[in-house]
Amino acid sequence: MSAPAPDYITRLNPEQREAVEALDGPLLVLAGAGTGKTRVLTTRFAHLLMTGKARPWEVLSVTFTNKAAREMRERVAAIIGRPVEGLWLGTFHALCARMLRRHAAIVGLQTNFTILDADDQMRLLKQVMAAANIDSKRWPAPGMMAVIQRWKDRGLTPQRITAAEDSDYANNRASEIYAGYQKRLIELNAADFGDLLLHMTEILRTRPDVLADYHRSFRYILVDEYQDTNLVQYLWLRLLAQHEDPNRRNICCVGDDDQSIYSWRGAEIENILRFEKDFPGARIVRLESNYRSTKPILAAAAGLIARNTGRLGKTLRSGRNDACGEKVRVVSLWDSEDEARMVGERIEAARRSGHPLSEIAILVRAGFQTRSFEERLITLGLPYRVVGGLKFYERAEIRDAMAYLRVLQQPADDLAFERIVNVPKRGLGDSGMRAIHEAARAQSVPLAIAAERLAETEALKPKPRTALRELMRGFARWRALNEKEGHVVAAATVLEESGYTDMWKQDRSAEAPGRLENLKELLRAMGDYPSLAGFLDHVALVMETDENAEAERIQLMTLHAAKGLEFDTVFLPGWEEGLFPSQRSMDEGGEKSLEEERRLAYVGITRARKTAVISHAANRRIYGNWTSSLPSRFLDELPAEAIEREGAAQMRAHRMADTPSVFLGQQGLMARRPRVIEAGAWEVKERPAQASGIGKGERVFHQKFGYGTVTAVQDDRLDIEFDHAGEKRVLDRFVQKASD
Ligand code: ATP
Ligand code: MG
Repeated sequence: MSAPAPDYITRLNPEQREAVEALDGPLLVLAGAGTGKTRVLTTRFAHLLMTGKARPWEVLSVTFTNKAAREMRERVAAIIGRPVEGLWLGTFHALCARMLRRHAAIVGLQTNFTILDADDQMRLLKQVMAAANIDSKRWPAPGMMAVIQRWKDRGLTPQRITAAEDSDYANNRASEIYAGYQKRLIELNAADFGDLLLHMTEILRTRPDVLADYHRSFRYILVDEYQDTNLVQYLWLRLLAQHEDPNRRNICCVGDDDQSIYSWRGAEIENILRFEKDFPGARIVRLESNYRSTKPILAAAAGLIARNTGRLGKTLRSGRNDACGEKVRVVSLWDSEDEARMVGERIEAARRSGHPLSEIAILVRAGFQTRSFEERLITLGLPYRVVGGLKFYERAEIRDAMAYLRVLQQPADDLAFERIVNVPKRGLGDSGMRAIHEAARAQSVPLAIAAERLAETEALKPKPRTALRELMRGFARWRALNEKEGHVVAAATVLEESGYTDMWKQDRSAEAPGRLENLKELLRAMGDYPSLAGFLDHVALVMETDENAEAERIQLMTLHAAKGLEFDTVFLPGWEEGLFPSQRSMDEGGEKSLEEERRLAYVGITRARKTAVISHAANRRIYGNWTSSLPSRFLDELPAEAIEREGAAQMRAHRMADTPSVFLGQQGLMARRPRVIEAGAWEVKERPAQASGIGKGERVFHQKFGYGTVTAVQDDRLDIEFDHAGEKRVLDRFVQKASD
């Protein structure tokens, strides 16, 4: 008789067990939310180790977030009963960055290349476009960046762009600009995010020796959230998985087509269909029992997603014993403040009855929505954290400090050098900067080296010369200090001696103390990393703030960031036409983008174990304007038997009592409305003309065009470069300051 199965296996249902025990050969697990896909992947990893099929470093596992990677590491450790080291476990970007450091030379980079953030990428692209004499008014850089990113998502290097893939942007000069941008990146010894995958895929495609090495070292590949891979990620996976020996193509992907929510970032659901073609004989396992949510929550989610067409189709039934549970609440509120108050009250009540705060999440469609909840939670003294985004590291003082550290690490980092050479002010005006640039060009050296040489000559005026000399000698000293005393001491010294901390100490603005606090926090964070290089990589890669992951806090995040997670209680506010579904999906994308919004709603509801509270407000104040809004069509699509509505009656009373307002018409809030709502659904009651207080350089949000940066202000007109919609001129009363 064979030995009894270990208990990590007996805890699985038969289908899950099949997916875990089929260790060899290609395997695709296709299943709905909460059916244990991630659990299968984690258990499979542990099983590979326990059966001796692979050693920890012979398994390549891809997760969608850093947080998921951390969880998987912990769970594997728990199953095998000891910590595991040397894992190839992380996001596509993190794994590719690590690989690319080994093979940087093949694409002309050095091992210590810098990973640029979005800001630096944009600045670099603008420089390249200016040098190519592209009219930036007509052809704004963000549009070009979108083209480049699309190419990178599809694995297209400049050489691989065919006529069919080409873009007519900037009068058919897009591929030329792309080539110029890539060339500059290499010169700067830098890579942007897209490059990590692009370069690695190119290396694996063109260097059979490198590929063979990886085939030898990775015996098994595991991929979570497979439905959201884009083409270049797929190509990378396929290269690594297609071992010449067909018996060694051990790749296991798990995913759910109903949760594909990243098509705007190039994700291709077709990758699921491609898998069966590229890996003939792949085993497909379906899981149908949901272990996460109660029956009403599942019913609500299933009813909603059933409206989508073109699904692969799945069954989902509750696998929980206690699955009866309460209905999904749909709460109608008067305005967004009421909505925040309602959420706050319910959280307080939950806390009083002993619910841990970390089991409560508020999931929003758009980042700007968090503000009202944050304010409310602060007022109530309820601790929370905003998950996702590089929030902390996006703050100006942190970016400045990071730029100092990047120059310290890598003198060739021109973008970082430019950012800090005159911060604090060192009297380097335009002419001083020009002199540095000219010297750099003439000697073909990075700006920092040119500046170092220039500072020791008489070329500059006395004041800037002395200041620059001090700075450049400082860098030499700080580098030595980094070697000797470590990066934390070096960083603290840099900030002091460069005058950067002093700059904020002398600043009288209300934000200055907070900025100094942030700088201290940065030094604290650095201590968690063994070296400066390690820390810089971490900051470039980490997509979420990692502080206090386990602390008792309410979690605020976007629906996109919530994928794969689960909470006892989930609040889903702002279900209003124009917000969710987003105005953009309604205006531009047609049925297809509407379906993606619906999948996002499905992801949102299925995060909840026990309680889901969906809400919408009839009025929203957006930077001084009251806008009225209709309840989201998704609310009508929830099956009646799974939900319980609250608040509609009070709302009607409220409306009759104190407002002659226009937006509800005669039928009342819950009345049926036409399915297609035009852009005018957001009836904007204009605020009286007055100075908006929005200045050049500020980040703003516009209902239709999304986020952007103000490039010029004239009376009540703003020129705005929108991240996705390009440059536009709009009236200031139609935009609000971006809250993040
Ligand atoms: P998503 O699509 O949202 O990523 P998923 O399919 O990855 O979901 P998991 O997160 O792996 O699902 O599992 C959902 C929940 O169900 C987890 O709390 C998990 O521990 C639990 N679970 C999974 N399988 C079982 C099982 N056989 N018995 C009991 N609980 C289970
Ligand atoms: Mg999962």
